[in-house]
Amino acid sequence: MAANREYEDILKRLLSGELQLSGLSEAAGSEATAAELRRRYVEKKYGVSLASVTGTVIDHEDASRRNIENMIGGTQRPVGFSEALINGEHVRGTRPIFLSTTEGRLVAGVSRGLKAMNASGGAVTTIIDDKMTRSIIVETGGARESKAVMDFLKSEKGFEEAKAEFAKHTKHGELIGLDCYTTGRNLFIVYKAKTGAAMGMNMVTIASNNATSNLVDRLNADPERRKSPDELSASSLLTTRKMLRIISESGNMCTDKKPALKNILMGRGVSVVAEAVIKSGVVSDVLKTDPESIARLNYVKNYVGSSLAGSLAHNAQIANVLNATFDAYGQDVAQIVDGVNAFDDAAVTDDGDLYISVYMPALEVGTYGGGTIRETAKELLKASGVYGEGDDTGETRYMLAELIATACLAGELNLLAAEATGHLTKAHASIKRG
Ligand code: NAP
Repeated sequence: MAANREYEDILKRLLSGELQLSGLSEAAGSEATAAELRRRYVEKKYGVSLASVTGTVIDHEDASRRNIENMIGGTQRPVGFSEALINGEHVRGTRPIFLSTTEGRLVAGVSRGLKAMNASGGAVTTIIDDKMTRSIIVETGGARESKAVMDFLKSEKGFEEAKAEFAKHTKHGELIGLDCYTTGRNLFIVYKAKTGAAMGMNMVTIASNNATSNLVDRLNADPERRKSPDELSASSLLTTRKMLRIISESGNMCTDKKPALKNILMGRGVSVVAEAVIKSGVVSDVLKTDPESIARLNYVKNYVGSSLAGSLAHNAQIANVLNATFDAYGQDVAQIVDGVNAFDDAAVTDDGDLYISVYMPALEVGTYGGGTIRETAKELLKASGVYGEGDDTGETRYMLAELIATACLAGELNLLAAEATGHLTKAHASIKRG
């Protein structure tokens, strides 16, 4: 009772402005109580009801430490599942794949694609590359100085120094390469790293910034660094800044959460291919069309149509399946922007069957850390056999990439078939709307 009166008092102070929202956690004593008071504050102040976001399995204390500020509860989306037969480098056999969505017919579509693939021997998945990147911008005196630092970083000594500094700030991250770009006084250093089971963005950002600070401090402390053998080049080094300095801890040359050709060409996160050969009989029985129609539609829609539109993405609906799997498995959904630039291929085989594949150059996923720690995500990762606790090599992360790429391929196969037969509109029209 005393506690209730105390909470009412806190709420009054919040509403009057005497207590700031930023001070609520301390005043409430626990994150669960603070969340309830925040909800009541919003309800009272704006005259609304937040009854549905109240019920959540999320641990308020833990989530408030790792994932969220000003927590008031949790959102929920329906979760469905499909089963995939995968002949992968890391996943072998049949696994459940979970999809969280509010788009009616998405799970049905992926399931129909998987049914056709499973009946034909399943998907073959191949990891082409793997690295997380972070770029740091260092401001130098000008192009000559940028070039000198680039030359050092490209040398064995420069890379070994960066690798050793990087390793001081993460146990699971390992620097595997450095790329440098300059526009003059702006020097972009791109760190490329293996990240164990984690997607790695925090890990690589922290280690890259520390490695860059070490480099900048060491060079700034060296009085010889701008000495040049002749007077003319020496004067060209004396430009805007006396000292090197980091001007961005994240310089967009990474590039994260923005559509970029760089990620398509160089890859980011896991670069993965999923392929399948669907027997012509299965194409007609399950997908109600034929290999030639799907191959032709893939060309006209995903290449002619996408090119006319100036799209970077040469696929039908990869974003839908990424959205559903990223949400189910606790991934950073903003990184769908990078993952969506994927490339479908389809052809009639010499035997008259359908070859179909998807290449996903930038599938940025993790099975440990970030949102994977949250209750439903962890449960679904475990149910698919890919939760990353204790996985130092990244095996579970590759498995998750293979699962997601397989679901994406199934979604592409199904949608191309549905459009080839004019069934797409009918399927969506049959859903109760409004
Ligand atoms: P994280 O949860 O920040 O870090 C992973 C942590 O797990 C590290 O502390 C790592 O320790 C530890 N760890 C323990 N066992 C591990 C294992 N087997 N494999 C890998 N790590 C293991 O996750 P993150 O993947 O680096 O970052 C993901 C988060 O970053 C997401 O929440 C995402 O939304 C956010 N994000 C951040 C940025 C940014 O710029 N900072 C950008 C985009 C997204 P060690 O490092 O010591 O190995």
